[in-house]
Amino acid sequence: MHYLNPVVTRLRKVIEAGLTPQTDLWLAGKIRLVNMMCLVNFILVLAMMGVDLIVSSNHDLSLIAGCVGLIMLLPYYLNARRRYISARVVFLSLAYLSICALAVIFGKDFLFQYYLVPGVGMSLIFFRNEIGNYKWIFTFVGIPLWMLLEVWFTQYPPLVVIEGGFVGFISYFSGLLIFITAIVMFATFTRESDRHLEGIHEVNSQLRDMASKDPLTGLYNRRFIADKLSRLFNLAKQDNRFMALAMFDMDHFKRINDTYGHDAGDKVLQTVSKLARDNLRETDLLARIGGEEFCIVFTSGDRNKIQQVIERLRSAIMNYPLQYEQTTIHISASFGVAYFAQELTGYEALFKHADQALYQAKESGRNRLCEYTG
Ligand code: GH3
Ligand code: MG
Ligand code: MG
Repeated sequence: MHYLNPVVTRLRKVIEAGLTPQTDLWLAGKIRLVNMMCLVNFILVLAMMGVDLIVSSNHDLSLIAGCVGLIMLLPYYLNARRRYISARVVFLSLAYLSICALAVIFGKDFLFQYYLVPGVGMSLIFFRNEIGNYKWIFTFVGIPLWMLLEVWFTQYPPLVVIEGGFVGFISYFSGLLIFITAIVMFATFTRESDRHLEGIHEVNSQLRDMASKDPLTGLYNRRFIADKLSRLFNLAKQDNRFMALAMFDMDHFKRINDTYGHDAGDKVLQTVSKLARDNLRETDLLARIGGEEFCIVFTSGDRNKIQQVIERLRSAIMNYPLQYEQTTIHISASFGVAYFAQELTGYEALFKHADQALYQAKESGRNRLCEYTG
């Protein structure tokens, strides 16, 4: 079946046209549905044209089918241009038009209201997130009302079938009842499943947060940063990009814990995390990788810039007047930094180098920055 792979890939590309990694789940579903229907329609039209060309001598049908097929590609094109709402509006209008065409062709034998059920249901689902609740309810109530008016005032046969008199009236109302019931069920069901999904989304994102963040400081944890660093390392290796890893460790932290208590130590860790967040740039990744050990991944800048940023943070920590129960706690941290180089085999090496530089900073007197020199 290998020879089918390129075809499958291509079909998938068509169905996913317009999707981006950021597209949310519901929108993605709607986009896929429209694209898929366009594709199916186009294939059917092509098949119909093929049969018509072989079987009949008059090709009017092929001509019409070809035009319809081309028009049906419009929603797909709009999706690909990321005009999602227009794509759905055009798609549904074409679907309604097809139903109207059937009604015109079959006249009074065509039960228009039943065909509207999936149509209207689809519209409601299609535009749920885009139109507000009032409009949604309006559509929901408005369409049956419109049908009612159609019957009472115009008596136009293709729209709703009435055989006349009381029987017709009953048949119309039972039809309407079925229609409304189906819509209510449809809408309620989708609304409910929407809510469940939203709940699942929320729990998912909470879980993701819990798995990647440290609860005391809100910074990324060791596992998350190791994963991130490994990816960034591979990218840096591929494109020879700039990357640096800094590690820092609070000085004499044990003493702080012993003198002021564990709570004071926790407050120091939270304060330092906030200082680090405030003094780093948007693109710098910050994590708490151990008790009072942190790391920063830099993916932009140069050696000078990184040194400046770290020095700024170091003096911010050193000069911070940390108040704890009427006393001021003096804190400081030591920093080690290492830079990416092509000859490094993995991100672990970068970790090791930064750690060695940090050790050097501790050894040579603390409250300072040392660079890994090899
Ligand atoms: P150095 O300057 O050499 O780094 O000295 P230090 O005392 O900071 O070094 P050491 O690694 O010996 O001490 C770290 C201490 O950090 C030990 C532990 O009690 C404390 N610690 C680790 N995690 C936490 C935490 O979550 N909260 C608090 N309050 N203390 C912690
Ligand atoms: Mg320490
Ligand atoms: Mg330590």
